[in-house]
Order: sequence, then C-alpha cells, then structure tokens
Amino acid sequence: MVDYIGVTDVTRLVTNLGLGAFLERLASEIESDYRRWDEFEKCARVAAHSEVGVIELMPASDATRYAFKYVNGHPKNTARGLLTVTAFGVLADIETGYPLLLSELTITTALRTAAMSALAARWLARPDSRVMALIGNGSQSEFQSVAFHRINGIRTLRLYDIDPLASAKLEQNLRAMPELSDLEIVRCSSAAQACSGADIVTTVTADKKNAVILTPPMIRAGMHLNAVGGDCPGKTELHVDVLSMPGLQTFVEFAPQTRIEGEIQQMPNDFPVTEFADVVRGLRPARNEIHSITLFDSVGFALEDFSALRYLHTLVQEERRERRTIDLIPELADPKDLYGGTLGASKASFRRAS
Ligand code: NAD
Repeated sequence: MVDYIGVTDVTRLVTNLGLGAFLERLASEIESDYRRWDEFEKCARVAAHSEVGVIELMPASDATRYAFKYVNGHPKNTARGLLTVTAFGVLADIETGYPLLLSELTITTALRTAAMSALAARWLARPDSRVMALIGNGSQSEFQSVAFHRINGIRTLRLYDIDPLASAKLEQNLRAMPELSDLEIVRCSSAAQACSGADIVTTVTADKKNAVILTPPMIRAGMHLNAVGGDCPGKTELHVDVLSMPGLQTFVEFAPQTRIEGEIQQMPNDFPVTEFADVVRGLRPARNEIHSITLFDSVGFALEDFSALRYLHTLVQEERRERRTIDLIPELADPKDLYGGTLGASKASFRRAS
C-alpha cells in the first residue's frame, strides 16, 4: 500500500505541531537538502502554457528518493471561485521505483514557499529587519506572514492588495492567531506606501503579465526583496530598472530555471546571479554589506517539494491511528501474474458467486 496524505491529513499534521513550528522545521529540512546540492538530479520544470495559465511538472531526486510535483498557476481562477495554485505530488523509492507516498501539495506548496522565502531572508536580509511590506494578500500571504514572524523576527506587516477584501481577509486571519499577538498590522493604500519604512518587501501577486509592482523609488539601500509572484515566462513583478539598481545582489534557486521564469527573464542571459545553494554551502557570500539590496528571485524549485514530501512522509510514518494508505499499486502473490492477481481473481470470485 502507498501512504496517502490528503488535505485533512496536512491540516492535522500542521495543526499538531503549530503552523510556526512546522514552517521552522520545514525551513531547516529545505536548508539541509540545499547543503546536499551536488547529490541531486536537477532540471528546470516542464511547463505547458496557455493564455490563462500554466501546468507544470517538477521532478527532483537523490540516490534514494525521487519526487515530482504537478502544479498549476491560473491567476483568473479566483474570479470563478477556484484557487490560483493547486498541486499534488509523489515521493518514490529509487531502489524499486515504487511510489511510497501520494500527497496533496496545495497547502504544502504554500508552506514550502513561505519556509523557503523566510530561509532565504535569514541568510540575505539584514538581521535587524523587523518591518515587512507584503504586497499581494491572497492564498500564500498568511503562510508568508507566519514564516517571517517566526523565522525572521518580523513584528510589523504593511499590507497592500488591489483587492481590499483580500487584505481584510489576511488581517482577520492573522489577528485570530494567538502566536501573532505581538504583530502590528498596517493596511496601506498603495504598494509604495507599503514599502515605506520596510526592511523586507515580499511581492506575492498573481497576474499573467509583466506587472510593475515595484519600481526603483520604492526601494532603499539595505532592503531585502522577496519576489515570489513572478514565476513564469511573461509573468513578472519588478520594473526592469530595479534589476540594474546600484548595490543589487540577485539570488536564485536554480539558475537555468530562473533565467526562463524569474524576474531576471527581463535581463540578458549572463546577468550575474548567485545560486542559494552556494550561499548555504559557504561557496559564495550572502549580503555584501549593510547597504546592499538583496533580491531573492523566487520561482519555486523542485528540491523544495522533495524536502516537503520527505518531511511529510517522516511525520505520517510516526502516526499510528491516523495514517492512511491507498491501493495505488497492485500487491501480488506472484509478481509475474498481474492478470491473475487482479482481473483474473475478480473473475474467479464472480464465477464462484454465480
Ligand atoms: P492568489 O490569486 O490567491 O492571490 C494573489 C493576490 O494578488 C490577489 O489577492 C490579487 O488581488 C493580488 N494582486 C494581483 N495584482 C496585484 C497588484 N498589481 N498589486 C497588488 N496586489 C495584486 O494567488 P496566490 O496563491 O497567493 O499566489 C500568488 C503568486 O505567487 C502567484 O503568482 C503564484 O504563481 C505565485 N507563487 C509562487 C511560488 C514560488 O515558489 N515562487 C509558489 C506559489 C505561488
């Protein structure tokens, strides 16, 4: 039998630990996999684009485990009452090729994206960062808020969304979390106002176009930019001039993928970037100086889903009563008799019954 983690299971696993603690643990799982960068088979994800969105497959593997995620991105979906991003994935055994786990990854994508954002900021942002602008207050935003509060010590959030109801929803959800009682929440009327006084700026908007969420006048020396929403060809959030600001250092997950999908798709192919794995392995410096502007050009990399699936599988294996399995793969007395152990067996029992 194959382990199964559905929406209710992830909800239980996260609730049992507490969202902040879960995100912190997941961030350290992701970091430990980035430290093993050379052990992974890596490739840019395979994307099927349409006018309105994208469907992607994201594989990653090491010597013992293989993982893939199916994920979509359809910014217009919310107008139809559907999520912009949904996902599911599989963790498999390299030795046998057998799937070990089939899991929901919609909530998990929000968790791992937030954990990755906060992890990158822990390495790249000024350690005294306490104020974050959060532009785009949709599905990902609560997860980003809790991760930055827990992992980076953010104590003031400055919210902006073109949809005031999205900001109201975010504020209401955050205020209901007792662990965020020391968090100040400020609603802003523009992206520029949200950025004013911020140490970190997170952009997590959804629109399938070269949007201009941030322009150079909104950015000051010493800021860290966590650009999450630009993750597809033709889908960006930063004005191109931000990328040539003096003192800007750009960090990416996997350069061959980010050059196609990230903010840096707007720049020539030799635009200088540092892969995050090189920072955590001590091969390249993080922030050069206090006045540098650091940009984490996040697009989401398969390694982070590998880490999340691996971590979820460990958690669910520790559970006794709640652990669920599905019959995804036939279990046979004779592995050469697929027919006899499945269709043939049901035919035999049908004959016996009639
Ligand atoms: P969502 O549709 O739930 O929320 C997006 C929000 O952005 C909406 O509230 C919308 O009103 C707002 N918005 C759109 N244009 C805006 C603008 N110009 N200014 C301010 N707000 C604006 O989507 P989501 O699930 O929260 O995802 C947000 C983005 O993050 C998507 O683009 C998605 O593809 C991306 N994403 C990236 C990663 C990653 O790893 N980098 C992972 C998951 C999602």
